[in-house]
Amino acid sequence: MPDFKYIVAPDNCTGCGLCSNVCSRNAISMEWNADGFLEPMVNAQACINCGLCVKKCPALHPPHLGADDMEQVLSYGAWNRDSETQFLSSSGGVFSALAESVLKEGGIVYGVVWRDKITAEFQKAETLDELKPMRGSKYTEAHPGKVYQLAKVELNKGRKVLFAGTSCQVYALLQYLGKDYSNLITVDILCHGVPSHLLLEKYVHEAEQATGKQVRHVSFRDKEHGWENYHIRTVYTDGTSTICPLKKDYFMRTFLSDKVLNRACYNCMFKHLPRVADITLGDYWGVAKQEPEWPVYKGISAVLAHTDKGALVLQNLKNVEFKNKPFQKLYEGQPSTYILSTTRTEPEDRGQYLEFLRTSPLKKVYSRLMYAVDIGFVRISYRSGLYRLYKKLTRHLKGNE
Ligand SMILES: Cc1cc2nc3c(=O)[nH]c(=O)nc-3n(C[C@H](O)[C@H](O)[C@H](O)COP(=O)(O)OP(=O)(O)OC[C@H]3O[C@@H](n4cnc5c(N)ncnc54)[C@H](O)[C@@H]3O)c2cc1C
Ligand code: SF4
Ligand code: SF4
Ligand code: SF4
Repeated sequence: MPDFKYIVAPDNCTGCGLCSNVCSRNAISMEWNADGFLEPMVNAQACINCGLCVKKCPALHPPHLGADDMEQVLSYGAWNRDSETQFLSSSGGVFSALAESVLKEGGIVYGVVWRDKITAEFQKAETLDELKPMRGSKYTEAHPGKVYQLAKVELNKGRKVLFAGTSCQVYALLQYLGKDYSNLITVDILCHGVPSHLLLEKYVHEAEQATGKQVRHVSFRDKEHGWENYHIRTVYTDGTSTICPLKKDYFMRTFLSDKVLNRACYNCMFKHLPRVADITLGDYWGVAKQEPEWPVYKGISAVLAHTDKGALVLQNLKNVEFKNKPFQKLYEGQPSTYILSTTRTEPEDRGQYLEFLRTSPLKKVYSRLMYAVDIGFVRISYRSGLYRLYKKLTRHLKGNE
């Protein structure tokens, strides 16, 4: 008997789907688990115990960490010169410019689109029309399908390939390929982490119940009120939509509370410099104070190049306004997204919040997040004097450690 077993999702499984792509028996499918995260499910009948899924799994074989040398990274503030594309993208629209340049050379782009109102997945784009749905951040785990296999086929044909996703997905592709391809460009996005899929399911369900309409999709980064003041727009199949500011939105408040992220995201293996991708794209938060005359209202991207290939691609990119910026300036706006994990440790009450998502309306989850904390068996309001006393006491005790 071989001494390896087919893969059982490790605790820090990112849901990358590499295992499902490497399995020659097609024995692994990626399914939502009870907490709302993608997890490999193995068909034991089809499995021949070859061990490849275990051997390749990024969670079991993490990347060698970069040295986090901030001086070495090429960094820019940037935006797409086509102001419509800039406006319709989450940040400054640099992804679209990169993708268009690859398409112009007869290449192919792999990125994330909505499959339906609650499911995001990887798709290919070979035309400008196919590119459009890739624009915009979908705040949910993207289903990888067989994207690594498909990208490899195109690479082996000698075609230029642009692959854009979270760092864990980019790393999964590189692991799958197992060698360098000069015709491959990889882009990772700065990543807060991915929330449980239960959150989006519930959000959409409640919107449909409240309005009696069918949701077409949710746009998480609507810039009608500006990039820095982005809103969440829910679009219905009858063409109408509703819009909610980030601060009041149940989905965003729950997502950004970090209570219901994927386990792997609390101590993300990929948030180091240099990153595994050629290029990193994100929001240049804080730029308005540094550069008030830039077109901030429509969105500014933070752009990093980690490889010579990445630097060359950016250098040849038409249609983007690039401004050199020391990495520290970008980093100031959101340090934990560049190098450290969001919170570093999994919240003790994560399980409770996942249970709320299964059983309670989002309003209840939100009000608990905003207004109350459990200290031992006692629940106290954030606004109460008791809570202020508790904070003072914990700060004092920490200071004495
Ligand atoms: C889950 C998630 C968390 C993020 N967290 C941060 C953050 O904390 N700080 C920050 O600065 N930026 C974050 N971003 C990235 C940021 O929102 C923009 O996507 C990025 O700056 C690129 O913007 P753009 O204007 O160039 O292009 P856009 O056209 O807006 O970018 C779209 C790109 O994002 C990819 N994408 C969209 N949804 C997903 C998904 N679910 N999984 C994988 N790839 C996806 C598409 O493939 C495409 O490449 C996050 C994005 C996602 C999806
Ligand atoms: S981290 Fe990726 S390869 Fe490893 S078990 Fe999870 S989905 Fe599979
Ligand atoms: S051990 Fe081999 S055959 Fe079995 S699931 Fe893993 S990759 Fe597939
Ligand atoms: S935080 Fe890290 S592990 Fe989580 S989705 Fe983003 S890149 Fe992947």
